[in-house]
Amino acid sequence: MRDAAVIAADLRAMLGADAVLTEAEDLVKYESGWRYGKGKALLVARPGTTTDISKLMAFCHAEGLRVRPQGANTGLVGASNPDASGEMLVLSLERLTRRLEIDPINRTAVVDGGVLLSSLNAALIPHGLMFPIDLGADPTIGGMIATNTGGTRLLKYGDVRHNLQGIEVVLADGTVVEALNHLRKNNTGLDLKQLFVGTSGTLGVITGAVLQVVPLPRQSATALVGCASGATVLALLQNLERELADVFTAYEVISANALAPVFSHNTDLRNPYGVGRPPAYTALVELSSTLPLDALNLAGVLEERLGAFLEGEAGEGITDVFLGKPEDFWAIRHHISESLRSEGKVLAFDISVPRSRMAAFTDAAVALLAKDYSFVRACDFGHWGDGGTHLNLVWDETTAPVATAELVPELQSRIYDLAVKGFDGSYSAEHGVGPHNQRFYDAYTPEAVRRLSGAIKAHLDPDRILGTTRLD
Ligand SMILES: Cc1cc2nc3c(=O)[nH]c(=O)nc-3n(C[C@H](O)[C@H](O)[C@H](O)COP(=O)(O)OP(=O)(O)OC[C@H]3O[C@@H](n4cnc5c(N)ncnc54)[C@H](O)[C@@H]3O)c2cc1C
Repeated sequence: MRDAAVIAADLRAMLGADAVLTEAEDLVKYESGWRYGKGKALLVARPGTTTDISKLMAFCHAEGLRVRPQGANTGLVGASNPDASGEMLVLSLERLTRRLEIDPINRTAVVDGGVLLSSLNAALIPHGLMFPIDLGADPTIGGMIATNTGGTRLLKYGDVRHNLQGIEVVLADGTVVEALNHLRKNNTGLDLKQLFVGTSGTLGVITGAVLQVVPLPRQSATALVGCASGATVLALLQNLERELADVFTAYEVISANALAPVFSHNTDLRNPYGVGRPPAYTALVELSSTLPLDALNLAGVLEERLGAFLEGEAGEGITDVFLGKPEDFWAIRHHISESLRSEGKVLAFDISVPRSRMAAFTDAAVALLAKDYSFVRACDFGHWGDGGTHLNLVWDETTAPVATAELVPELQSRIYDLAVKGFDGSYSAEHGVGPHNQRFYDAYTPEAVRRLSGAIKAHLDPDRILGTTRLD
């Protein structure tokens, strides 16, 4: 590799002086991930156009420089940051934000890869539209495609994959693949855009996309429903889907161990249960509709349905029903992760199993912990409506009988084995693959899948300059 200062000078001549960062204090924010991942960058390049990204990639390809594409750096598997070598270039998409064109009749938006989700939604609101992937962070559209973000309304709208119509990608050698398909119907060959969805930026740099967008709901209604068991949580889910599928938009579930810390660490949030301990699970139910209130009283529909469920056989497992403002209930949901961090060491999991097996999986995990790790608490919460759970484990490092460095890999292997081998589940429901969970990709992915993925990687990026995640 040539000297870093010479490379930086070449790139400044190519992209402009302000597109290249080399000072240590400027690099810091690109070098560490939100939860995992800490490395050292050779430099950070911030091109503002697809053409400049193409030139940059051709340059890196010729130089044999390894590149880490980075969006808003909110990824949760350590795949957004450079490795420790100091030889990786971070390609930040933060200045690729010029294109944001909305076609309200086609119900599509054409966006640059660096556009933030919040910017897209702000531009869509005047048209009565939104991009329906909703989460507690503000990622870029390119990053969302690269990780196939799920979010809290997947139940109704699907993940990014389901809302992506076209893509523009720069390949490792600088080739621009323009597949910005504006058509809802277009069955003409391979659906190549899917190659880049959820593959952690290892096959190309996503510079643009055509997204399907949806009408903005005019009203929503929410309830918190206390459930005595996971079986009741699933019975309620099935009932709501059967009776209210058209307007049923979210079903998030919070265990007592995850909910109690939210109120002890955020005294401004109102605890509907008062001073008592919450029940085993609390389901956050959301209904939304584009119909105005005078055409449909959604809160009334929700109240009536929950009342009817309470009177049925499975209603015995319901301990409480609270109807309330969506913003209050979602604030509770979005404070869980940070509240758990105030409780001790947190080991986060992002697991999915078939929805019908969520309760059995969670019970099995809790039993495993009680038997072999009684000092560890399962503080699980997540997207039960999609078969997803953040089975986060919390313990006090100062009193634990096992050192954290030893305990973490042991717990990961035990819990992931249970999910993948015992319940046909996934070790990464929505966060993708990166250094944090690479060894589990290696352990659980069938040989034939890895060979095929490897062949695609070898074709698109033979020198392996893009990313560090290995999908082969
Ligand atoms: C508080 C919080 C809540 C979250 N909730 C959810 C949730 O509910 N559901 C969910 O699915 N995720 C969730 N996430 C995870 C995260 O927000 C997503 O993974 C996110 O969409 C990543 O986008 P980003 O722009 O931050 O990408 P980054 O973090 O910068 O990068 C993520 C990966 O994508 C690659 N990448 C980034 N941009 C590009 C590009 N233009 N071209 C090619 N590759 C690229 C990177 O190399 C890296 O591998 C949450 C994260 C946080 C911090």
